[in-house]
Amino acid sequence: MLRSAGRIVAFTGAGLSTEAGIPDFRSPGGRWSRMKPIMFQDFVEQDEARCESWRRRFDMDAEIRLAVPTRGHRAIASWIQAGKSPAVITQNIDNLHQASGIPDDAVIEVHGNTTYAMCLDCARRHEIEDLRGPFQATGEAPRCEACGGFVKTATISFGQPMPEAAMARATALAGNCDLFVVVGSSLVVYPAADLPRMARDQGARVVIINREPTPGDRYAHLLLRGEIGDILGHFVL
Ligand code: NAD
Ligand code: ZN
Repeated sequence: MLRSAGRIVAFTGAGLSTEAGIPDFRSPGGRWSRMKPIMFQDFVEQDEARCESWRRRFDMDAEIRLAVPTRGHRAIASWIQAGKSPAVITQNIDNLHQASGIPDDAVIEVHGNTTYAMCLDCARRHEIEDLRGPFQATGEAPRCEACGGFVKTATISFGQPMPEAAMARATALAGNCDLFVVVGSSLVVYPAADLPRMARDQGARVVIINREPTPGDRYAHLLLRGEIGDILGHFVL
């Protein structure tokens, strides 16, 4: 399927990065067996929610900074470098697709990126390492020095509007490919989880690579159940 496809699109989730030491959310022992997500509304309204969110971010900082692309990331990068795939759509926020050599403009991040932060009011970019010292010294969640707005990691929280341009590109790609490969996603977070279904409805073959069943299994053309690295290691172009 990979060889005969003219236009491949990979759609990745947290399962792609567990081999890099970044826990996913829904596996046993994943992040959500340990903590509840912080809703966007709470971040905006509650000082304590902002502080908790930043504590969590700094707690996982080493995990994110030290992580390197996995066998799965490298296989997907090879499809793009071979000219067989225009871009990867990812729910991941860890920047590992970019680190694997895929150009920034070929990584479509539908849930943002946690390796930097943004002001919610003026969208000014802030670097995580500049925010850590003041947060640890004062215990106060960072504010934008330009406008006073709340600074948040550049990720999309539950309850936060989806990034329009990224979703538009992702939707267009799902509707214009002949092979759509889902890698390491539980396919339960919407609207992103609609993308494989849309690809299928528009005529693409859909492959799901995951170690657990997903709601997409019933409409996929091929299921590969197992470790992503072991599987995608065989599919480097
Ligand atoms: P998820 O945790 O809901 O699902 C991950 C899936 O991957 C699970 O079904 C699990 O069985 C499977 N999996 C995990 N490791 C695997 C491996 N090595 N081989 C095969 N299968 C494996 O993740 P999701 O669907 O991406 O949704 C969670 C949301 O959380 C995403 O939107 C994302 O924004 C965010 N998130 C991102 C990261 C990251 O960037 N690395 C980490 C955690 C959560
Ligand atoms: Zn600002």
